[in-house]
Amino acid sequence: MHSRHKTRPVDVGGVIIGGDAPIVVQSMTSTDTADAIRTAAQVVELANAGSELVRITVNNEASAAAVPEIRERMAKMGCETPLVGDFHFNGHKLLAKYPECAEALAKYRINPGNVGRGKKRDEQFAQMIEFACRYDKPVRIGVNWGSLDQQILAEKLDENAARPEPKALSEVTHEALIESALSSARKAEALGLGGDRIVLSCKMSGVQDLVAVYQALAAQCDYALHLGLTEAGMGSKGIVASTAALSILLQQGIGDTIRISLTPEPGGDRSQEVVVAQQILQALELRAFTPAVVSCPGCGRTTSDYFQRLASEIQDYLRRQMPQWRKRYAGVESMSVAVMGCVVNGPGESKQADIGISLPGTGERPVAPVYIDGEKDVTLKGETIAADFQAIIERYVEQRYGGKGTV
Ligand code: SF4
Repeated sequence: MHSRHKTRPVDVGGVIIGGDAPIVVQSMTSTDTADAIRTAAQVVELANAGSELVRITVNNEASAAAVPEIRERMAKMGCETPLVGDFHFNGHKLLAKYPECAEALAKYRINPGNVGRGKKRDEQFAQMIEFACRYDKPVRIGVNWGSLDQQILAEKLDENAARPEPKALSEVTHEALIESALSSARKAEALGLGGDRIVLSCKMSGVQDLVAVYQALAAQCDYALHLGLTEAGMGSKGIVASTAALSILLQQGIGDTIRISLTPEPGGDRSQEVVVAQQILQALELRAFTPAVVSCPGCGRTTSDYFQRLASEIQDYLRRQMPQWRKRYAGVESMSVAVMGCVVNGPGESKQADIGISLPGTGERPVAPVYIDGEKDVTLKGETIAADFQAIIERYVEQRYGGKGTV
């Protein structure tokens, strides 16, 4: 793995993005921000899932007016997670008219492509930056492929057309995205906002485009970088595309905060984007959030889906315990648990994990040996294997991590 690209740390309501700080997981609500009750509830849900910053859209007056109430409701539910306001088109007006909203937010997201047209673009951008300076808030200058500043793109295309050997359109578009982000950051600094109050992003929906743009962006600046594949999509497509893009960049040391832009399935869980973000960071061994469950895929040697159900139950159980365990058992997030389907790889994989169970495959004796710290500890059998194994995990966590926590 490359060493981390050096960036200036930015303090967002007590959460540090950049520098040597751990890579921050963030997410965005899907509720109507004007509905303070539902929005506060979803923010708390995302925060409980592990989102360290939560962004809400502030798209109209009713939304701006609701922000202080959202904060109050969050506080009543014991949630202090910083809120980021996502502004487009009318942010300058909303921040002027709703000072309590400007105060309650920990960061403003400004999209240079949607800040205004023509002469108004610079004026309105400057107003947004003035509010950030006045309220002492950092900003994310968030350029997006779908709303790229058309003036910059037109200039870049003209320049390119005049070249003896014009570059490909995609390359020119990449340059325009980067130019939009960097020139906006320079303008913000010229207006008095410190470089340590600026986070940049240049989101695209293609994996190779995103990788190329962020590599170039990282080479040209030391602003903290927010990574994310925009409009990643639904289900496995969104997860895989986001993971592919972000893994390449994170492995190269690029990226200080990540957001996974999944389209939830109808009625799906919004927190999935937080879980995926955590899993990417954990798989790359950049951070640990929840004990990892190693489980085999199963094959013809297993007679039923029993071990798959057990693996899934154990995973759910560990995730459910984490909010409490995190407070009581420091380091428990690094624990590994193996749930294996038969004797072929079961004992070997179980010995590698902190705790492992190897379930009986077809034709094997109906017993399940449990390994703890590489040694066979006990052999489970009968109807209560799942409950017994859970109890063993509980005991292990208490013995190994008890007494090291913060409570
Ligand atoms: S551990 Fe056993 S059941 Fe699991 S995939 Fe390997 S051979 Fe199949």
